[in-house]
Amino acid sequence: MPQYRAPVDDTLFLLNDVLGLQGRSNLAGFADATPDVVEAVLREGGKLADEILAPVNQAGDREGCTRHPDGRVTTPTGFKAAYDAYAGGGWMGLSVPEAFGGQGLPQVINTAIQDFASGANLALSMYPGLTQGAVAALLVHGSEEQKARYLPKMVEGAWTGTMNLTEPHCGTDLGLLRTKAAPQGDGSYAITGTKIFISAGEHDLSENIVHLVLARIEGAPAGTKGISLFLVPKVLVNEDGSLGARNDVSCGSIEHKMGIHGNSTCVMNYDGATGWLVGEANRGLNAMFVMMNEARLAVGVQGLGQSEAAYQSAVAYAKDRLQGRALTGAKAPERAADPIIVHPDIRRTLMQIRAFNEAARALVLWTALQGDVLHRAEDAKERQTADDLMGLMTPVVKGVLTDRGFANAVEAQQVFGGHGYVEEWGMSQFVRDARIAMIYEGANGIQAMDLIGRKLPKDGGRAMMAFLGEVQAFLKESGEDEAAFAKPLQAALGDLQQATMWLMQNAMGNPDNAGAGATDYMHLLGLVALGYMWCRIARAALARKAEGGDTARWESKLVTGRFFMERSLPETALRLARIRAGAGTTMALAAEAF
Ligand SMILES: Cc1cc2nc3c(=O)[nH]c(=O)nc-3n(C[C@H](O)[C@H](O)[C@H](O)COP(=O)(O)OP(=O)(O)OC[C@H]3O[C@@H](n4cnc5c(N)ncnc54)[C@H](O)[C@@H]3O)c2cc1C
Repeated sequence: MPQYRAPVDDTLFLLNDVLGLQGRSNLAGFADATPDVVEAVLREGGKLADEILAPVNQAGDREGCTRHPDGRVTTPTGFKAAYDAYAGGGWMGLSVPEAFGGQGLPQVINTAIQDFASGANLALSMYPGLTQGAVAALLVHGSEEQKARYLPKMVEGAWTGTMNLTEPHCGTDLGLLRTKAAPQGDGSYAITGTKIFISAGEHDLSENIVHLVLARIEGAPAGTKGISLFLVPKVLVNEDGSLGARNDVSCGSIEHKMGIHGNSTCVMNYDGATGWLVGEANRGLNAMFVMMNEARLAVGVQGLGQSEAAYQSAVAYAKDRLQGRALTGAKAPERAADPIIVHPDIRRTLMQIRAFNEAARALVLWTALQGDVLHRAEDAKERQTADDLMGLMTPVVKGVLTDRGFANAVEAQQVFGGHGYVEEWGMSQFVRDARIAMIYEGANGIQAMDLIGRKLPKDGGRAMMAFLGEVQAFLKESGEDEAAFAKPLQAALGDLQQATMWLMQNAMGNPDNAGAGATDYMHLLGLVALGYMWCRIARAALARKAEGGDTARWESKLVTGRFFMERSLPETALRLARIRAGAGTTMALAAEAF
């Protein structure tokens, strides 16, 4: 039975020592995030994850969701009580402005809580996660009337949110979208169409569900330029805010899928349902991007969460399972065999995951902090740089953390041998649950294309220059004691610069060169970003070690970081070689030859 413990102490170290949260009191709302407040919030969030969300994870996977003949969907036993604890604790509105019932705390703290929640119970964490995404979209693009009517209830958790993009014939290519919106003459629209794969589309956790739906207004242009965003509540809301009649939207069926069984994935039928335009007509994709960008970061966090949960289980098992003897002589001679944690191959597996998790956690928090700077800094230049860095790193966090999160869940499963393959130990669930994060919110291949095709060339490469500038400035200040970190990062940075240059020279003439190298480039940038995070962690750990106290904690952090620099970061050279190979052999065979 897996036992999840939210990494509260590690997160506090990252926020306080590595990211210097307390030095950011110039950002609106940060002054309230005193060390005491941050610690109290994280400890409570950790308790919620460990004691409320994690205990219903495995049972939720086994039971799954049920659609009843009348269209109702029920979630697994225990989910409602756990959701009520989540909503009742005010977690939904942690970083939502106080005017709408939130607590106005920095988004970076909310991201830490998302990490704990998705590690504890990915399927359950998606219900509040999607609601937070819908809230973010309405905060930016909703009318004052929409915000007043819907946000407080959503922040309270009484109503949840969804995002409805996908249709049977269109997933990645939303320009093909067919759902229609017909003006009803009173400012509302009749929405007609079928959406598929809608997470949390119907369930029994909340009184109402606020669907954000992409549709095409009658007569709007074809393609992505004719798409608008609509708010379509499951239950219509009366003038006084009370719930009225059922809207014409229903769940036709739920999917039977590989993982996240506790989250309902619904076919949603809109049969002339009443909806209201959010933002400008034909600018729906732009409005939905607020939700999608928020969700992409949250999905990256899901990859990390599954990697962490699988790692914790694998460590416990490796200390317990007795098989064989250590190569250097018995470590537990009084027992029939040594625990498998003595074997270098098991250690390699555990170190690889651990070294990834710690840096990945730093990277998601660093990226979330850019979001806070973007929304809260007074200085326009500071806001612009934060916007650039967040835009650049969003596809990397989504793509790299979920690719590696799944790979790490498989590696951790391997530590269990055959016991990892049977359901009892829970490792199979981590693998199955982690898999979806590589697909939804834009499949990872699309994240790579977004990075290389949009984020990299945007504004003459300004975002990449800002990132390189920040890393180089950090390296300039590194002392002798940081050499084991700074030197490998310098080499990896060289690979990144060469790859960027190669693409600039070879992708214009043949765009397939960019397409064929995109995933490698995304991982190359991800490795450099994780290496940079390890350099920052090392500097903070060296400072803490010098202060004395629990030096063993800081020493193990430094060892873990050196492992990453020696054994994970050199993968940048392989990625560079692949990018330089171009599209030649990748595209040489005719489609008929497959
Ligand atoms: C469990 C689950 C939950 C989901 N939740 C939601 C939700 O809440 N709301 C919602 O709207 N959708 C949701 N989705 C849908 C999900 O976002 C889509 O499945 C995903 O975006 C991919 O779309 P698709 O399945 O149509 O694949 P396709 O678009 O058909 O893509 C198939 C493959 O081709 C690749 N590909 C496509 N176009 C290109 C291109 N131009 N260049 C390179 N490669 C390309 C893709 O990367 C992918 O590997 C969910 C899906 C699942 C399975």
